Amino acid sequence: MFIPESIQSQKDYRTCIEFHGHTCMGVTIGYQAAKLAMRLLKERRAVDEELIVIVETDACCCDAIQVLTGCTFGKGNFFYLDHGKMAFTFAGRSTQQAVRLQLKSEIWNIPEREKLLAEKIAAYDATPEEQNEYETIYRARGEELFSQGPEAFFDIEWKNNFNLPAKAPRAPSVPCTICGEMVMETKLTDVGGHLVCRACLD
Ligand SMILES: [Zn+2]
Ligand SMILES: [Zn+2]
Repeated sequence: MFIPESIQSQKDYRTCIEFHGHTCMGVTIGYQAAKLAMRLLKERRAVDEELIVIVETDACCCDAIQVLTGCTFGKGNFFYLDHGKMAFTFAGRSTQQAVRLQLKSEIWNIPEREKLLAEKIAAYDATPEEQNEYETIYRARGEELFSQGPEAFFDIEWKNNFNLPAKAPRAPSVPCTICGEMVMETKLTDVGGHLVCRACLD
């Protein structure tokens, strides 16, 4: 997918790319999702845990979502469900309002002509005219899609009275009986009166 200059030149987009390491469609989808969700929820980047995100994939898009929303793995307001779906739920703690965005399936629909030309190019079988035609179709499709705003990418599902995940737990650390390493108390298992860490339990 062609990513237009109007997106690539955005300062916050550049920040996402810097964090992620490369420009790709995945990170761009995450960027679009975070922008749309924060606009819909009227939320700003989370300083603490006022905003949460639940992602249903662990792909490139997650990096842009973390950068823009301030919901991060480290802060404990970024939750991962291993569902393999390009779907993201954003929720505000104060409003209890949540919105789930799912990437529209038609985003991956590539017109037949574009597909054919792409195959020819990949097989080094395209004429210069076909190369140009491909470039034109490819660019036009990207420009057209992005010009419609982030709404064009996602199915939007509002969730009222959303049951937000609990705030990041905080607990003191105590030593594991076996390895002696300090472990967050809630992560230890009582084995016959001895507290054992998960690594030693295995
Ligand atoms: Zn990527
Ligand atoms: Zn241990």
